[in-house]
Amino acid sequence: MTQTTSTPHVVREFAGSEDGILLVIHAGAGNRGKHDSPERRAQAEQDLRRALEAGYTLLEQGAPAQDAVCAAIRVMEDAPEFNAGRGAALTSTGLAQMDACLMTDDGEVGAVAGVTTARNPIDAARAVKEQTKHVLFAVPDTAQLESWGVATCEPDYFITPDRQRSLAEAQADGDEWEKHGTIGAVARDAEGHIAAATSTGGITNQLPGRVGDTPLPGCGTYANGESAAVSCTGIGEAFIKATAARQVADRINYGGGRKPGPAAGPPAEGAAAALDDVAAHHGEGGMIVIPAHGRGVLAFNSEMMNRGWRSPDGESVQS
Ligand code: ASP
Repeated sequence: MTQTTSTPHVVREFAGSEDGILLVIHAGAGNRGKHDSPERRAQAEQDLRRALEAGYTLLEQGAPAQDAVCAAIRVMEDAPEFNAGRGAALTSTGLAQMDACLMTDDGEVGAVAGVTTARNPIDAARAVKEQTKHVLFAVPDTAQLESWGVATCEPDYFITPDRQRSLAEAQADGDEWEKHGTIGAVARDAEGHIAAATSTGGITNQLPGRVGDTPLPGCGTYANGESAAVSCTGIGEAFIKATAARQVADRINYGGGRKPGPAAGPPAEGAAAALDDVAAHHGEGGMIVIPAHGRGVLAFNSEMMNRGWRSPDGESVQS
């Protein structure tokens, strides 16, 4: 069952049990915004459930955590409701330039930044992880993607009328950061391995070439077998300055919860402390965390976060 505790500015919820398979997802955090209707929230919740189903089924079948997070991410990338893949936020020039990252608890990681033609950017991140000796590719072109076996499409595929309207509004009134819908997934598989994945279109009206926290290991995405798998969403610049995802993992590993307070490493305290640091860098947002051992955590210091989890204990979805 979901338990919610509020501390000043940070909501923390718990998911699943101490051990066993678990999938936690988010689809962006921020303010509700003027277009946030009950219908859109219902659609978001339906898409979150489909993503949980896709990833959790694999975990039940004994698949590795990275397969589960990629399956969940692909469903959300395909959903135009969220800011990743189709429906990604648009740059000031009206392009979808997307970032994605996949990291596993053996320290292996792959990421892409500024991709415009990978149908599912998470597939490109996985290809970097598994098919190259590198970590991060900037602006991989169609030929490069196809040489990795990644499905490609025209840049227009990602552009939706809703995102064009958001861009026009942002350019008219500077309303750039409502609810964004960046997506993320963390999982623990039947063997106890953990993985994290995040995918985004960035921030509406961002300058072409801007890269956020999502594809940067340790900032928006991180996994370490000794501590936790973490995926973040929010104002990327602040998460980069705070090295937020790695900070949570280190607090779990070495101790260090919120201040003032006792040194403590539980994931919820680590997440709250890291979000305090994000706030100190003038940012807000949220994160999902699955420790190697322990319950999952969903934490945010913004008005809301699209989120969900599934485990043998049950399922929860909230928008
Ligand atoms: N963190 C993403 C970025 O800065 C945006 C978001 O999560 O909404 O690119």
